[in-house]
Amino acid sequence: MDTESFRKYGHEFIDWLADYFENIEKYPVVPRVQPGEIIKQFPVSPPHSGEPMDDIFRDFQTQVVPGITHWQHPGWMAYFPANNSPESVLAELLTAGLGAQCMIWQTSPVAAELEERVMDWLRQMIGLPETFTGVIQDTASTATLTALLTAREKATGLQSNLKGIEKKLRVYAGTEAHSSIEKGVKIAGYGKENLRMIPTDDAFAMIPEALQQAIEEDLAAGYQPACVVAAIGSTSSMAMDPVDAIAAVCKKYNVWLHVDAAFAGTAAVVPELRDFMKGTELADSFVFNPHKWMLTNFDCTAYFVQDPGMLIQTFEIHPEYLKTAADKQVKNYRDWGIPLGRRFRALKLWFVIRSYGIEGIQAMVREHVRLAALFADWIREDKRFEIMAPVQLSLVCFRLNPGGMNEEQLTQLNQEFLQKINSHGDVFMTHTSLRGKYTIRLALGSRTTQERHVKKAWEIVQQAADEILP
Ligand SMILES: *Cc1c(COP(=O)(O)O)cnc(C)c1O
Repeated sequence: MDTESFRKYGHEFIDWLADYFENIEKYPVVPRVQPGEIIKQFPVSPPHSGEPMDDIFRDFQTQVVPGITHWQHPGWMAYFPANNSPESVLAELLTAGLGAQCMIWQTSPVAAELEERVMDWLRQMIGLPETFTGVIQDTASTATLTALLTAREKATGLQSNLKGIEKKLRVYAGTEAHSSIEKGVKIAGYGKENLRMIPTDDAFAMIPEALQQAIEEDLAAGYQPACVVAAIGSTSSMAMDPVDAIAAVCKKYNVWLHVDAAFAGTAAVVPELRDFMKGTELADSFVFNPHKWMLTNFDCTAYFVQDPGMLIQTFEIHPEYLKTAADKQVKNYRDWGIPLGRRFRALKLWFVIRSYGIEGIQAMVREHVRLAALFADWIREDKRFEIMAPVQLSLVCFRLNPGGMNEEQLTQLNQEFLQKINSHGDVFMTHTSLRGKYTIRLALGSRTTQERHVKKAWEIVQQAADEILP
C-alpha cells in the first residue's frame, strides 16, 4: 500500500469507527450466530495474490462485524467491562504505526521512561504509597503469575538456609478467588494440590482467622506458606477481602501478599469509594486492569510491587546481545515480567489520563456506581426478585425467586429468565454460582452506559419476569 492509499483508507476507517461509536446501540449486544456459521464464509485456502483493500474492507463489514460481540455497547452488563475510549483507540493506532518493540530502554527510551511516569501517576491516583513501583503487564493473569513466581523465588531463597530440607510451598486464596490464581499456581509449579481455598463469610470475603488457621496447620505439617492472594472485587460478586487483617497474618508468618483488584481497582481513584484499599499499603504486590474500567483498550494491566529488586531477581537474564551501556541507569522492563517483547502500552494510558484527568475518571466511576445502586433498589422493591450478595461498586447479583421453589427449580427458572433477558438484544448479562445458587450478574462499566440504558435493562428484566412467571 502506498502512502496515499494509507491516507485514504485511514480516513475511511476512522469515519467507519466514528459511525460505529455513534450507532453502536443499533446492534444487538451479542451477535445472532450459530457456532461454525462464520468460519464457512472464509475461504479454506489463503489468497495467492494480494487483494484490493476495498474488497478486504467490504468483507470486514459483511463478514466480521456481524460476528462481533459489542463490548462497548451501553447494554454491555455481562462478565466485567473492558471499556475503551476514542482517545485510547487513537493512541493505539499511533502505537501500531510507530511499531516499536519496547523490551529495553535502548529499544525505545521514551517507552521506558513514559511507562515509569504514567505508572507513578496511576499509583498516586489509586492512593498506593510511594513505596510501590509500577510496571505494565498484558493481563492480570500474567501479573498474578508474576507475583506467584516472585513469591516462589523468595520462599525458596528463604529455604536455602534450611540445608537440604525442601519443604512444599503453599498458596492461599479465598474460595471466591479468580481462576487465574489456580492457573498461575499450576504454571508456577506449586502444584494445584498446594493451593488452599480459604473459607469466605456471608459477604463472600475471605475469613482472616481461617487463613491464619490454615497457615498454622500447614506449618505444623511441614509445609512452607509462600503466598496469599487477596481479592478486592471478586469476579462472581465483587466481594472485598479484608486486606488489612489478611496483611497482618501475612506479616506474622512472613508470607507474600498479592492483591488482585483487576476490575475494582479503578474505583480506588474515587476517594469516597476507596475504603477497600485499607491494608494494601502492606501488600507485596497489587494488580488492577486499566483495560477493564479505566477507558484504556485491552490490553493494559497495572502491576505494582514494593520491592522491584525481588521482581528483577526473579526474571532477569543477561544475554550478551541485550547488554547496553545504559543498563545501570535505566529500567529495562524485559526483566520486570515474563515476555521479552513489549508493546508501547504506556502511550494509551498517557492519552487517557491526560484527556480525562482524574476528575473525568472519577465522574465515570461514580456514575456507574450510582446506576448499579439504582438498579439494586428497583430489584429490592419488587418482591419477585432477590439480591444475592452485598451490592459493591457497579455489580448487582440477583435472581428471580417467587417463593415455593427448591434450588433445582430456581436454577432452571433463572436459566430461562436470563435467556429471555438476553434474547432481547439490547442488554447482555451473564450468570455465576454463589454457594451453589444460580445468580444473575449486572455489571456496569461501559463508557456509554447511561441511566436510560439501566432503566431499559430494568424494563427488560421485569418483562421477562412477567412472561416467565405464571
Ligand atoms: C478479570 C479478572 C481477572 C483476569 O483478568 P485478565 O486481565 O483477563 O487476566 C483476574 N481477577 C479478577 C478479580 C478479575 O476481575
